[in-house]
Amino acid sequence: MGKIKSLPPEIIAKIAAGEVVERPASVVKELIENALDAGSRSIKVEVQAGGRKFIRVTDDGEGMSSEEALLSLQRYTTSKIARIEDLFAIQTFGFRGEALSSIAAVSRMKIISRKDSQLSGVEIKMEGGTLLGSEETGCPPGTSVEVRDLFFNVPARLKFLKTLGTELGQIGEVMAKIALANPQTQFQLFHEGRALAHYPVRDDLSSRIVEALGKEVAGKMFFYRSRNGGVKVTGYAGEPGLNRPNGRGIYLFVNRRPVRDRLLTHAVMESYRNLIPKDRYPVALLFLEVPPSEVDVNVHPSKWEVKFSDSETVHRSVIRSIREMLERTPWLKPSSVQKGSELRESFDPYPQGEEKSSFPFSWPQTFRVESRAGVQETTSSFSFLGQIKQTYLTFASPEGLILVDQHAAHERILWEKLLEKFSQGGVGKQPLLLPEVMDLPADEAKIVEDHLADLARMGFEMEPSGRRTFWLKSTPEILAKREPIETLKEMINEISSWGGDADLQRSFDPLLKIMACRGAIQASRHMGREEAQALLADLQNCNSPSHCPHGRPTLLKIGLAELEKMFARR
Ligand code: ADP
Ligand code: MG
Repeated sequence: MGKIKSLPPEIIAKIAAGEVVERPASVVKELIENALDAGSRSIKVEVQAGGRKFIRVTDDGEGMSSEEALLSLQRYTTSKIARIEDLFAIQTFGFRGEALSSIAAVSRMKIISRKDSQLSGVEIKMEGGTLLGSEETGCPPGTSVEVRDLFFNVPARLKFLKTLGTELGQIGEVMAKIALANPQTQFQLFHEGRALAHYPVRDDLSSRIVEALGKEVAGKMFFYRSRNGGVKVTGYAGEPGLNRPNGRGIYLFVNRRPVRDRLLTHAVMESYRNLIPKDRYPVALLFLEVPPSEVDVNVHPSKWEVKFSDSETVHRSVIRSIREMLERTPWLKPSSVQKGSELRESFDPYPQGEEKSSFPFSWPQTFRVESRAGVQETTSSFSFLGQIKQTYLTFASPEGLILVDQHAAHERILWEKLLEKFSQGGVGKQPLLLPEVMDLPADEAKIVEDHLADLARMGFEMEPSGRRTFWLKSTPEILAKREPIETLKEMINEISSWGGDADLQRSFDPLLKIMACRGAIQASRHMGREEAQALLADLQNCNSPSHCPHGRPTLLKIGLAELEKMFARR
């Protein structure tokens, strides 16, 4: 007999189950998706011991007849697709016909289901994939699937489960995601009898966001939408100050299906470039709609992944859409803030009357615009009060107290100037009356030699003279009174830290940031009224005034309401 044998069906089933069912949260996800596909209006999830002992999902959907219920437990049985072409026009969450059989293979399962049109329902019991029995039963219309002792027959999997809290957290997260994409359905989560989450039926997304993310976060989110051919992008994106240490605040949906996708995550991150610090992530909800034929959801049995046929268009559309929204907010285009009333009109968060909602629409704390005519926050209405520790500038405005970090603010101003000049050909140079000689170590000399033209475009004109010696003939204007050589060395260091074949063309940003930082007014330096007032005016002319290029805030505002609260006036 040869060494290759066919595996027995139980083993095949367990192997396949491993792909669909990784942990209790995957069971919850599959069962909820089935309930949604069955047209449910209300879905209840009950779990015990973080889902390890017990999971029950009860819905009020179309239900199954007893024949259907028995069939549904077999592998690759589905009511959702019938022909191969259907795979490219998927409108349902499920389609592979393997969730129920997979879950049944690794647990003790009970299904109770009844179709509305029938007088009685059916109850089916399974254990480790084996049918224990099925009988007629009295029950309300809809379906309830009970899953006990998950992985009782797969000890290896059981070992990989995390603490109760972690598994429960995963369940809560997956429910929040699904609830966000389906506001018209009610969801409830109970752990050991205690209500953990409740999402009542909503006719708008915004109230759902308040329930899923909390009022405070929701109040700092802005609506955006756009359409590019068949690609529709909608969502809410948070103000830059909401940034988080990980990407868990980024919720991605493709045709209402929650997904994990690097391309989309990247697009969201890219939209916030230079608005939040490098190692932080924004909070954003992204609902992408593409024709089902343009997206493949059949990448993995867990259906968390998708493939786009035109990923470039998708990527570009997302960036453009979020960016456009950010540009209408005070973080990117304060110039429009000066035209306060116009801004309100042009910035309709719910265009075309669709998706009208009571979303708590709020401007960020800085440069908040009053809609009442005549009251506009422009720098001329800010009067300089003084400097704190020669570092922070304070201003009084009709709306409260403004605090400015002078270094961060100036850094932002210089950086934007540098970017602009740079993109127009090169930053302003100041020739040195007496060129300076620079002797560099071999590796640094190599970098300079490779990038003579790039450095010149950034204001450093250098002429080789000998193997490791250069004449520095000009420096950037903004560094004229600073320490240009120190700055240049820092930039060379930065380039060398990128390793061998650094492509400067794509990496000017960090170098210009170094220049802006070096050129900016330092902390602990005296600033007089005129200088302070001019700095604030320049800041307000920036494209994104609220943060320095590294993502630190440039200014803070303590509004009247906060002052009143602090002085217990209310
Ligand atoms: P899929 O969802 O990919 O079709 P499943 O194994 O999850 O595969 O479910 C198999 C079939 O069982 C579904 O196609 C559907 O017809 C039926 N089904 C499963 N859950 C429910 C439910 N909650 N209500 C009604 N029908 C259901
Ligand atoms: Mg399914």
